[in-house]
Amino acid sequence: MGIDEGFDMIPPLSREAKDVKDWENFLDCVRTFYKDDPKVETNSHSIGFNAGEYPELPFEGHKFLRFSSKISGRIASDTGVENYINMVTSMAKIIFGPRVQHWSEAFDQYGHYGWEEIHRVRETWDKPDEPMSTAPDPPAAEPGQQSAQDKHLKLFEVQQLPGKGRGLIALCDIAKGTRIVREKPLFTIDSMPPAQLDKVIAAKVKALSKEEQRQFLALHNNSPGKHAFTGIAKTNCLPCGSDSTTGGIYLTICLINHSCLPNAHNNWNEDYEEETIHATKPIKAGEEITIDYSKADPSHIRQQQLRNSFGFDCQCTLCSLPPQQLKLSDDRRVQIQRLDDGIGDPMGMLSRPGACLADCLSLLKLLEEEYGEAASIFVARACYDAFQISVAHSDRSRASAFAERAYKARIICEGEDSPATQRMKRLMENPASHRNFGACSKKWKGSDKFLPSSLSADEFESWLWRRAT
Ligand SMILES: [Zn+2]
Repeated sequence: MGIDEGFDMIPPLSREAKDVKDWENFLDCVRTFYKDDPKVETNSHSIGFNAGEYPELPFEGHKFLRFSSKISGRIASDTGVENYINMVTSMAKIIFGPRVQHWSEAFDQYGHYGWEEIHRVRETWDKPDEPMSTAPDPPAAEPGQQSAQDKHLKLFEVQQLPGKGRGLIALCDIAKGTRIVREKPLFTIDSMPPAQLDKVIAAKVKALSKEEQRQFLALHNNSPGKHAFTGIAKTNCLPCGSDSTTGGIYLTICLINHSCLPNAHNNWNEDYEEETIHATKPIKAGEEITIDYSKADPSHIRQQQLRNSFGFDCQCTLCSLPPQQLKLSDDRRVQIQRLDDGIGDPMGMLSRPGACLADCLSLLKLLEEEYGEAASIFVARACYDAFQISVAHSDRSRASAFAERAYKARIICEGEDSPATQRMKRLMENPASHRNFGACSKKWKGSDKFLPSSLSADEFESWLWRRAT
């Protein structure tokens, strides 16, 4: 088998000028040091060391994750690979400092990255990069079936962030609606008592590769103590669907930090059995990618919840506002919840649908004030509420228009290929296929005889929300 040794670059280098320059200096250093060594070869895309398992350094630093080889066994000792590993590691440390993390299986240390990821990046060495400034394809042009992993490497990197542990930082400008990550759970867990759950998780962790075990154990644990596996799993798991009692653990997605005004949205895609992350607003290169762990409550409630469940005091842009401005947000969130509860009341929908529809419009206005252009997921839900009210009273035209808005909002935060997005599309095309069509009354029937195509934008809004003009 042999013992592996080497170093990983954590986080990987970016394509920014400083990293590019540092990598060039490092390669110059290596070339100069080994200029008379016939075992050190310059290839078309790398410097190769004809020793052990032929460790290599690519010409492009952002495509480098690991320099390593087996250092035991006959081939290794005959070729002196251990000396190359040690010397190259020392040179890298001089230039890149603590980013260079040396490890040796002889001391039960393992690299940071998985081999699958290493090989995937290795395959890009001879491929040209996409231009950095080009915004990624919107989801409509990205069915999601192509290698999302390739996209990971270009869109973000994992970095250590002061006071926050690890997080995801955008490597380029990311357009609103872009799918940033698509990831299968490392494993899933169901709800059960902690003692029992700990045994179940221990068995699942045991079945993982050593590298995966190491990465799982490196995830944050907000309840250290007797049930360590359960602590990590509960701190990190994301529900597989909004009402699901099953949760998934992810090695990348679980590193995404929280913001009460996030720039990304997480969603379980049951067709793929994967979690997806989409940009809900444009994200600038260098900006942290965030999702919302909270239940969108006013600040004092959500901060308590974040402290209890995840062990941190939220210092996001919203929580850091001066008290007067924070109060405006808190008041809005109270109003949003009040309207949401009222709209969800079946009696209201039955007896006063016009007022419920007006409440949906008020809700949408508040959501846009609170979340700005990142409101898509809430817009999708509010428009679906308006759809349900219209459908229940047999109004096909408006129901279709509301379903279209919900559909467009879902594309942004879940992608065209999400089952919920596709469902909205089907309802947009045929609102009468909804099981509650006409369930409350037929009083809004016949709206489909009126086609609102000739209306101005303002007139259309008045028609849609049944406001008197
Ligand atoms: Zn916050």
